[in-house]
Amino acid sequence: NQTCVVIGASHAGVSFAFALRKEGWQGGIVLIDQDPDLPYHRPPLSKSYLANPGNGLSLLKAQESYEKEQIQLKLGIKVTTLDRESKALRLSDGNVLSYDKLVFATGARAWMPQLNGMEPGMPLFTLRNAGDMRRIQQRVGQSTSKRALIVGGGFIGLELAASFRKMGLAVAVMEREERVLSRVTAPELSSYFEKLHRSQGVEVLLGQEVKAIRPSKNGLQVSIMDNLSIEADLLVFGVGIRVNSELAEQTGLDATGGIAVDGQCRTADKHIYAIGDCTLHYNPYYERHLRLESVQNAVDQAKTAAAALMGKPEVYDALPWFWSDQYDLKLQMVGLSQGYDHSVLRREGEHSFSLWYFKEGRLLAVDAVNVPKAYVWGTKYLKERTALDSEKVGDPTIDYSSFAF
Ligand code: FAD
Repeated sequence: NQTCVVIGASHAGVSFAFALRKEGWQGGIVLIDQDPDLPYHRPPLSKSYLANPGNGLSLLKAQESYEKEQIQLKLGIKVTTLDRESKALRLSDGNVLSYDKLVFATGARAWMPQLNGMEPGMPLFTLRNAGDMRRIQQRVGQSTSKRALIVGGGFIGLELAASFRKMGLAVAVMEREERVLSRVTAPELSSYFEKLHRSQGVEVLLGQEVKAIRPSKNGLQVSIMDNLSIEADLLVFGVGIRVNSELAEQTGLDATGGIAVDGQCRTADKHIYAIGDCTLHYNPYYERHLRLESVQNAVDQAKTAAAALMGKPEVYDALPWFWSDQYDLKLQMVGLSQGYDHSVLRREGEHSFSLWYFKEGRLLAVDAVNVPKAYVWGTKYLKERTALDSEKVGDPTIDYSSFAF
């Protein structure tokens, strides 16, 4: 009987293991993760889990489901080396594990920049897993003056800001660019979210970088540009990730900017697949190579890879989608807006609107704030590649169903 080993038991790895069983794989399935927690939903780490320390993690699958599907979980164990020739993995517990098929679902890790004055033991954090979140919660529980500085005004930074406000902390968000969310959305949305956070009492510092960090009575004194300095009990970096692709790289697989896979999640080694945040893959809709960080991509690639491994070559062509919750707002995004030349704002109310992005007249993406209908219709139009009349899109008296020419 053959064995399929999956490195990484998070959204991609767990979805893959169950999909592979469903596709009819009779052999062994081993899921390995260095994280000791039973696999859990990761997006709430910066949202509901953080602000509610009493609640547990919400699990991707109940423990019995792994037993029922005969999926062997090895948690708290790291894969340290891979030998592709002998098809064997060395594990941190000293064991060697052989595989017939191997799947990289190794995701990414949060990046902490090295800054002047950093010392071990300082209250400096990143947030990628449940352990990171517990360390942050513990620090919040300890500190007395309760002021958090967040470096990075992307999704994780802003979600952290909203959660910290809910937890009663004073919060400052520092962003190097001149606007928040600059990597992922249009200036209109950036300015909306900036105002929203300011209205909730968050100090938003734009065009600012950390220069140096020093210990202070309560925690940290953080020097920023313009000779200013900020006192904080804790500092959390939300400044991006590094792909966990070292194992693949060490054995000569192409992993520049992500582990390279084809439309069926296969690497150049016919026994090895890769899925989720760790992959660089081709997206037929946008006609370019992408590395996405989203649950949707992890889950959809897992299904594609499981089918491919079982000889059903369905090409991965899912439309990217994403969401973010901040305060009472739900942002839903479908498609990728990068490269747009024209955007249309459709306003339904003060806190409900959508932005529709076009390139050469073709719809690229929709960002919807508190308007699920815009997200649903945007998804439909993108999937069907419908040509839209952007004037109709911007006119709130015209129904979503009537945007086509
Ligand atoms: P990961 O979740 O990164 O999992 C990879 C796993 O591999 C890890 O558990 C790691 O421990 C393990 N691993 C790596 N190397 C080894 C090794 N050598 N040995 C053993 N184990 C190893 N996405 C959304 O779509 N919507 C959101 O709102 C959203 N919010 C987020 C909020 C936060 C705070 C974070 C951190 C992420 C958020 N994301 C969100 C992104 C989403 O969580 C990721 O896209 C998703 O987790 C990717 O799944 P993955 O399985 O590819 O990788």
